[in-house]
Amino acid sequence: MKPHVITTIGELRTILDGRRAGGETVGFVPTMGYLHDGHGSLMRAASGNDLVVASIFVNPLQFAAGEDLDSYPRDLAGDQALAGDNGVGILFVPTVAEMYPFGPVLTSVAVADLSERWDGASRPTHFAGVATVVSKLFNIIGPCTAYFGEKDFQQLAIIRRMVADLSIPVDVVGCPIIREPDGLAMSSRNTYLSEQHRAAAVILRRTLDTGQAMLEAAESHNGPAVTVEAVETAMTAAIGVEPLARLDYLAVVDPLTLSTPDKLEPGSTVQLLIAAHLGDTRLIDNCSVVVGGPAATDPPPRAKP
Ligand code: AMP
Repeated sequence: MKPHVITTIGELRTILDGRRAGGETVGFVPTMGYLHDGHGSLMRAASGNDLVVASIFVNPLQFAAGEDLDSYPRDLAGDQALAGDNGVGILFVPTVAEMYPFGPVLTSVAVADLSERWDGASRPTHFAGVATVVSKLFNIIGPCTAYFGEKDFQQLAIIRRMVADLSIPVDVVGCPIIREPDGLAMSSRNTYLSEQHRAAAVILRRTLDTGQAMLEAAESHNGPAVTVEAVETAMTAAIGVEPLARLDYLAVVDPLTLSTPDKLEPGSTVQLLIAAHLGDTRLIDNCSVVVGGPAATDPPPRAKP
């Protein structure tokens, strides 16, 4: 069924307050639209709630001058169809004037430290724009469970911290990355890629694979230790074989603090992050790795003779 499209904050609040008063739970999926199956997976994850609300808002605050705000792809008819197919009941599609009626905001939410690293170093105003719009959307939607993709791993860490620091009554759920068959993480921005750059873009996943294999092969306890530096050097060499890719950063980080781990303890979980330009398009990807490989599972019990 096609979702009910709502464009004003007032109407959305009235409906959601009424539904919650009737005992219903709300699942919320914030997006910038041009939906693909990565977004669809978040909507399906939210389907355990009585009502699923998705938002489509290309938020000017999180784009710097010279970035792709004006050219960001849009397709409301396609988005309505995908959202309906994935169980969304309400699609909130506010205009910029509805969200920011006084023009530029004077109030901004900034999550220090986490926002300054990695993507934040390359895009210094980006995460304040994200944290501000997400806190605004949470205030509009009200108590709910909100679903975010691990595709934007740093964003997810920032939102979790913002919700904890400000006691926002929202449960945040992270959902796995959905990939194309060749391993490229789905992204609305993949549509910008030329045929050549699209083929080359698989190097991001391959570079993560290189780091993952090295970390998983690290011998536990007494064996040769692997260092962060060695993994990052191997990953830098891996992306270097693709002349069409220009590396922005890659890193082995602690998944909570996003800082460089002092030591790679066997059995600990680390996150590999990467960002690279393919032509004019900047892509990001990441993966979670257990140092020394995943814990061996117990062998299945043997049948009694
Ligand atoms: P966006 O429309 O790009 O702002 O993304 C909206 C939400 O969808 C964010 O929580 C993203 O992390 C998530 N998302 C985008 N791409 C993917 C993907 N390939 N797999 C899983 N989640 C995704």
